[in-house]
Amino acid sequence: MNRRIIISKSKYLAGLQCLKYFWYRVNAPEEIPEPGFTARFIFNQGMLVGEYAKKLYPGGTDLGKIGDLKEQLVKTSELLSERKPLFEASCSSGGVYSRADILVPAETDRWDIIEVKSSTRLKEDYIHDVSFQKYCFDKAGVKIRKCYLANINNQYIRKGDINPGELFKKTDITAEVGELLVGIEDRIEEMLEAAARKSSPEIFIGKHCSEPYICPLKDKCWGFLPDNHIFNLYGSKNKAAELYNEGVLSIKDIPDGYNLNFKQKIQLECAKTDKPKIDKGEILKFINSLEYPLYFFDFETFSTAIPLYTGVKPYQRIPFQYSIHTLDAIDGQPGHYDFLAEGAEDPREELLLNLKKQIGETGSIIVYYESFEKGVLKELAETFPDYSQWIDSITARIVDLYKPFGNFHYHNSSQKGSASVKKVLPAITGLSYEGMEIADGMAASAYFLYICGNYDTNESLPAKEEVEKVRDSLIKYCGLDTGGMINILRALAKEAE
Ligand code: SF4
Repeated sequence: MNRRIIISKSKYLAGLQCLKYFWYRVNAPEEIPEPGFTARFIFNQGMLVGEYAKKLYPGGTDLGKIGDLKEQLVKTSELLSERKPLFEASCSSGGVYSRADILVPAETDRWDIIEVKSSTRLKEDYIHDVSFQKYCFDKAGVKIRKCYLANINNQYIRKGDINPGELFKKTDITAEVGELLVGIEDRIEEMLEAAARKSSPEIFIGKHCSEPYICPLKDKCWGFLPDNHIFNLYGSKNKAAELYNEGVLSIKDIPDGYNLNFKQKIQLECAKTDKPKIDKGEILKFINSLEYPLYFFDFETFSTAIPLYTGVKPYQRIPFQYSIHTLDAIDGQPGHYDFLAEGAEDPREELLLNLKKQIGETGSIIVYYESFEKGVLKELAETFPDYSQWIDSITARIVDLYKPFGNFHYHNSSQKGSASVKKVLPAITGLSYEGMEIADGMAASAYFLYICGNYDTNESLPAKEEVEKVRDSLIKYCGLDTGGMINILRALAKEAE
């Protein structure tokens, strides 16, 4: 075994996903792009969850807050004899290094590992994560009795202060960890061999580039693919991987007679002819079903692992912004209203009050991907029963502009196999989200929480000018979602002429 390379838990998990990624982690970390604003927000959420999990074990010592790595290793071995809970305890032995979120003394000379995760489900990579920890601690002479996963209980409802005992659910994963320990030394050996090479190993791209995590090297590894590449094939990653392995790089090169479904056949036809597919009859049916005045409507929501308000569950969607564009006739002058919450208080009732004033009593309410808006409205009706009748009445008026695209009544190769508004808008109208400060829903929620002081664990508020800049970007982003829908509808109407 090459002893010069120390394998940490995160490197081991990278190596399980892909040896090429592992090689870069070890040999050229500077070539791996830094995580963006949204990824850092998700990381910060995990840190916050970790802080609450520590409250499950009062009297524990937090080693993560002591000096550097070397000092932490020394301090961990000193504190093990005190037999008290340890947070971020670390160990290193024989070329591997790991930390445990929480170590709890068990029996006279053993320890339990508690791995804290901010998700609500058990995932296989969590078991690999803990099996690596157990392997390291065992190797360092710290006997592990049991392994647990403490993740978020999605049934918890916040009442006043967070109750960590109810926020987390603990699952015994000792048996599963034991299963994934089998073969761990061989896997580590294979990773070390890959890392010792002069250049990165040749690894084919495939599903593993996005599972279990989107690999940060994806742009680099996937850059050689043609514009409308085979992985844009609608709804079947397996079929795409099979075709890719047979040497098909582009959708237009799918061989005749290959088993494709209805939508994939349309994709192939559009790619081969370089023309959009337009089902005029279905598009006209959709357009004629609309009742004027039209309200183009979009919510922005955030959801946090730690509920921010009383009565809220982990990851419950909290709407904080909406945009409405109105239209009295297809070629009429659009009107516009919007709402963006101020401050860190629960924004929902104020949002509802405004929405009720701005949505009239008749006319279609056009959204893009109705299950989202309908789901948020349903949750609002449950929380604010005084509004439930009105919410039911507006829900019944919702029309989904996604449908003509999701059903492939209109399809254009430049959508790249997607019917999302982010792909449809540029494909059919030439407008795009490119270059916008905030260009997707995840970023919108992360930025909103940032200006409310809920982005990172130190909860510092950004300066006033920064807040104004972010609010401006949020308004522009949500406004393009609804203004863009007008352009999409007009373009569709034109195609159906
Ligand atoms: S993009 Fe795919 S092939 Fe490239 S390093 Fe990442 S996982 Fe490996």
